[in-house]
Amino acid sequence: DSITAELQSLDRQYQIHPFTNHSDMHGTGTHIVQRGDGCYFIDETGTPILDGLAGLWCVNVGYNCREIVEAVTAQMTQLPYYPSFFNSTTEAPIRVAEFLAKHAPARLNHTIFSNSGSEANETALKVIRGYWKLKGQSQRRKILCRTYAYHGVTLATTSLTGLVNCQEPFDLPLEGFVRIPGPYHYGARSELTPEDYGRWCLEETRRIILAEGPETIAALFAEPIQGAGGVIIPPKGYLSGLREICREFGILYVSDEVITAFGRIGAWYASEMWELDPDIICVAKGITSGYLPLGGTMVSDEIAEPLLKGGYFAHGFTYSGHPSCCAAALANLRYIEDHGLVTKVKDDLGPYFEAKLANLAAHPAVSEVRGMGLIGAAELVPKGGRDALTPTSLLGAKASNLVRAEGAMVRGIRDLIAISPPLVISREQIDSLFASVERGLDKLWD
Ligand code: PLP
Repeated sequence: DSITAELQSLDRQYQIHPFTNHSDMHGTGTHIVQRGDGCYFIDETGTPILDGLAGLWCVNVGYNCREIVEAVTAQMTQLPYYPSFFNSTTEAPIRVAEFLAKHAPARLNHTIFSNSGSEANETALKVIRGYWKLKGQSQRRKILCRTYAYHGVTLATTSLTGLVNCQEPFDLPLEGFVRIPGPYHYGARSELTPEDYGRWCLEETRRIILAEGPETIAALFAEPIQGAGGVIIPPKGYLSGLREICREFGILYVSDEVITAFGRIGAWYASEMWELDPDIICVAKGITSGYLPLGGTMVSDEIAEPLLKGGYFAHGFTYSGHPSCCAAALANLRYIEDHGLVTKVKDDLGPYFEAKLANLAAHPAVSEVRGMGLIGAAELVPKGGRDALTPTSLLGAKASNLVRAEGAMVRGIRDLIAISPPLVISREQIDSLFASVERGLDKLWD
């Protein structure tokens, strides 16, 4: 209609979108999403679309959680904002920090709030630098990070990221970010089994650490499941091996749980599932189900101690511990707890989703599926099979458009689609999601 046309025109004129190819997005016109309803969103055509990506892997409680809206409205009415600087704060961030610690692996009792996943990781980088300085080991400056990692978009977190297309346009990475292999067995086309490939990654990691000098390495960053890099599930033994190597060389272990925390894989924190006992966990996204921005850097007692004792902590954002954002987080976390969503994903929805994903492997256009809990991916191939793929095949984007036309949203990445629906999805909606995916993929070779 005319309002849509006007908005699309204004959008073209005035807005630059994140991670968007502006040269071809206007062929069909930008989608203008209007409303949300449970696991669905409704765009300018009025068609409900089942959101198989939960916004951007974040709308865990779906789009109309009354409890969050009411909590934010009450906070906004009482006190929309007050800083946490200079020995003041408000109730909401205190309660959120307590909630986070209550469910976290044992030592992670302290949270530094920020506004996003990028800021949570950036904060971790600064805390780590300060920590080693206080320890008299300022030579520990280098950071280990993995291929196919995604950790954010600031200069430092883009440098942490292991996706060349995020770095190359900006002449990044910065110095001091040392790349180790991520466990992407499929992408490596390795002759080894996934487990053996995981072992090879660990041997490589050890070799790189020794070559760099273990005493120069400050920390390692790892997503338990690499999300934006293509939903890469760690092979058995890999994550615990990585954790062990860090312990051996005194390297801090940072678990980036921006996607995996708060129930996505059937645990409050994925680190707990793999018994990683990290020194730092970074969270964002699902902490508020995306209703308002919030990030958190959760640090162990050991790291917090020098910051708390006698130190002046010279870091923080105007909106660190923002009361309205924290009110959203508290209501969201309580909703997840009160409705038993974490257990539900673990015992019911996760296994159901994994079984549907396994069935999808039989589709002729699918060459591998991977998944755990409510996150999954399908690697796609053209008619000629995997050898007919080219760097410009980009089957993921093509497939996600086809699936959208069939009523569901998934994310295209390279030659794969990623799926990560809200945790409040029903079994019937999971059926419907996979039916849309199959119908879309039926047309991939047309
Ligand atoms: N870390 C991980 C694992 C992520 O998936 C993301 C975003 O997708 C980020 C960090 C960055 O978060 P943000 O986009 O909120 O800055």
